Amino acid sequence: MSRRSQIVEECEGLMDQPEQIRNIAIAAHVDHGKTTLTDNLLAGAGMISEDTAGEQLAMDTEEDEQERGITIDAANVSMTHEYDEKNHLINLIDTPGHVDFGGDVTRAMRAVDGAMVVVDAVEGAMPQTETVLRQALREGVKPTLFINKVDRLISELQEGPEEMQERLLAVIHDVNELIRGMTEDWDRDWTVSVDEGTVAFGSALYKWGVSKPSMVATGMDFGDIIDLERADKRQELHEQTPLSDVVLDMVCEHFPNPVDAQPRRIPTVWRGDADSELAESMRFVDEDGEVVFMVTDISMDPHAGEIATGRVFSGTLEEGQDLYVSGTAGTNRLQSVGLFMGGEREEVSRVPAGNIAAVTGLKDAIAGSTVSSVEMTPFESIEHLSEPVITKS
Ligand code: GDP
Repeated sequence: MSRRSQIVEECEGLMDQPEQIRNIAIAAHVDHGKTTLTDNLLAGAGMISEDTAGEQLAMDTEEDEQERGITIDAANVSMTHEYDEKNHLINLIDTPGHVDFGGDVTRAMRAVDGAMVVVDAVEGAMPQTETVLRQALREGVKPTLFINKVDRLISELQEGPEEMQERLLAVIHDVNELIRGMTEDWDRDWTVSVDEGTVAFGSALYKWGVSKPSMVATGMDFGDIIDLERADKRQELHEQTPLSDVVLDMVCEHFPNPVDAQPRRIPTVWRGDADSELAESMRFVDEDGEVVFMVTDISMDPHAGEIATGRVFSGTLEEGQDLYVSGTAGTNRLQSVGLFMGGEREEVSRVPAGNIAAVTGLKDAIAGSTVSSVEMTPFESIEHLSEPVITKS
């Protein structure tokens, strides 16, 4: 069986097991390495070639995609990862790095339960680090921290172990100060910690990573890493402690699955009647409940046309359903229902609650629309621009 058909089969098998799903975003200040990290994860999961990850920049360049003959959707990729003897479906949604797209970041955050915040070890936390953290926390999305470009501390800045440790601890401290400031009145502590395994370090460019649990598992500590990096043995470093394993293990262990996340998040992100059957169905990720689908992104596919991507909070999406689109009159009929597998959309017969789905047929939907089988309070109110009415005289 080809790797691709194997992935398709794995993803389909996992979409009915919400405990094994993680819906996540990678969020960062521009140039801190979000794209390079994403490529690493895809390569590690076998979705793109190991050799070119880091150079491919799968998340941003369409031309490059065409040259490689595969379509990586700009916004969404899914992958599978084996952790703790279980396979996991990891759906990654892209978040725009620019401050002006604040609305889009919020929307992307609403569809996920965990956000990996990437910070450049040399630059430290920057203004957009603060913005994305605030957006994640406001949406009840749990953060973890990946400190990137650690190779630069070793090879370029020639820092010794103590200097490096001091710098990395300062980054963690700054990020935690931001988190503390934004969650002062919470009873939950979402600061990140090396000991708990919610912080990882590494180099997305050279594809190696390390965390406290990975050090225990591989026996590689910072001393070994400094030695190999200084000796320019980066391939060895990658093979001994691959970044994608370290980061995806952290995702599976520390980010909540939809069943854990939705009971807590629905009351935060949805302003409708908390006592209604619909609210209950969303809290409990009920695949037999009414359909509630929040659209985060609309993209164009040369073959399928307009594709609406978003999070299924309740019910099960199926081809042929007539669904209400918030802010518009009447319903739209679902033409096809799919999942992202790798960066490509694969049509399936149904997508149950807890997943990120990619569907066609929602001609009235825009990014931010709430799509549902019963009329309901939308996640966000959107002003639809009405088309000019042309009357014949
Ligand atoms: P994004 O804007 O956050 O998506 O950042 P990119 O992934 O596009 O990376 C920005 C620049 O930093 C590119 O030139 C990358 O090659 C470089 N870069 C990314 N990760 C690393 C790293 O771990 N080490 C070094 N030295 N450079 C990196």
